[in-house]
Amino acid sequence: MNRLTLVHAPTPLVTRERLSEQLGIELWIKRDDATSGAESGNKIRKLEFLLADAVAKKSTVVLTCGGIQSNHARATAIVCAQLGLKCVLFLRVDDLSAALPRSGNVALDRLVGAEIRLVTRAEYADRVNVLDLAAKELASKGETPYVIPEGGSNGLGAFGYVEAMREVRSQIAADERFDFVAHACGSGGTAAGIALGAAKFDVAGTVWVVAVCDDRAYFEAVIARIVAEAQKLDSSLSTCAKVVVDDASRGPGYAVMSEEQLVFLRKVARSSGVILDPVYTGKALFGLAQAVERGDIKRGARVLFVHTGGLPGLLADDSVLEPDA
Ligand SMILES: *Cc1c(COP(=O)(O)O)cnc(C)c1O
Repeated sequence: MNRLTLVHAPTPLVTRERLSEQLGIELWIKRDDATSGAESGNKIRKLEFLLADAVAKKSTVVLTCGGIQSNHARATAIVCAQLGLKCVLFLRVDDLSAALPRSGNVALDRLVGAEIRLVTRAEYADRVNVLDLAAKELASKGETPYVIPEGGSNGLGAFGYVEAMREVRSQIAADERFDFVAHACGSGGTAAGIALGAAKFDVAGTVWVVAVCDDRAYFEAVIARIVAEAQKLDSSLSTCAKVVVDDASRGPGYAVMSEEQLVFLRKVARSSGVILDPVYTGKALFGLAQAVERGDIKRGARVLFVHTGGLPGLLADDSVLEPDA
């Protein structure tokens, strides 16, 4: 399988004593917020496979989509600039006439010269067709387009997280494993890759998947589809860890935290220096803490939390600070 080297691997695997105590578990953090520089986060693990495929197919332009402050869109735009590929981003906004933000992920998209096409929520719901139509139009103009689905989440992208589990295996003793791997889920590709990789490399028996937007039924179906796609591409991925989709910590909406979640995010930052973002990792670690509180994860369990990144989005959202800070 074609693969680029984008990740500075292995990313650190660390413990944070006060955070472990606060949560009541043996917490290990896989620092995938530190996979690289400005393009950091979980998405470049998927892009190692997706953009290698784009290059192998002699593509000239890459199309993808996401929310206005999409980490995936930003990572894709930056790596495309590194590879000399054009990049077209379809970004979802509530108001097409509002000015484009000059901060966070979008600022980086603009800095590296990605073409940004804003789409409404209704158009975004039809994103597969929107991307497909735009690709056809570019092809008719002599380009060779390569479409990456939302979040880079398909069977090929999922290999990035199968390989991340191989990496974790190389960082722990032969007889060591975790009770759970826990992480934030927004488009399902990370969950699918972790579930396959955790089984293949005997890293953990269960993946605790914290949904940040859609509900359990939605993500169970999406993850199952991506797992099946990956298994079709690689027959060695015959087994899959147990996937538990936890949709109890989604908060008020995508990219919006409850007051309780904001308080948690601040407390974690102050007590341990672990910086979580409000869209993904903050909700994921909050969800994990709640699962321990409820007794769904037993106290003292050995948990690998995958920190998937999201710093640019945090820097564009001042709601994480107390109003009078
Ligand atoms: C995209 C993203 C996720 C979710 O990963 P999916 O594979 O889309 O489910 C989690 N955390 C961060 C910071 C992300 O950017």
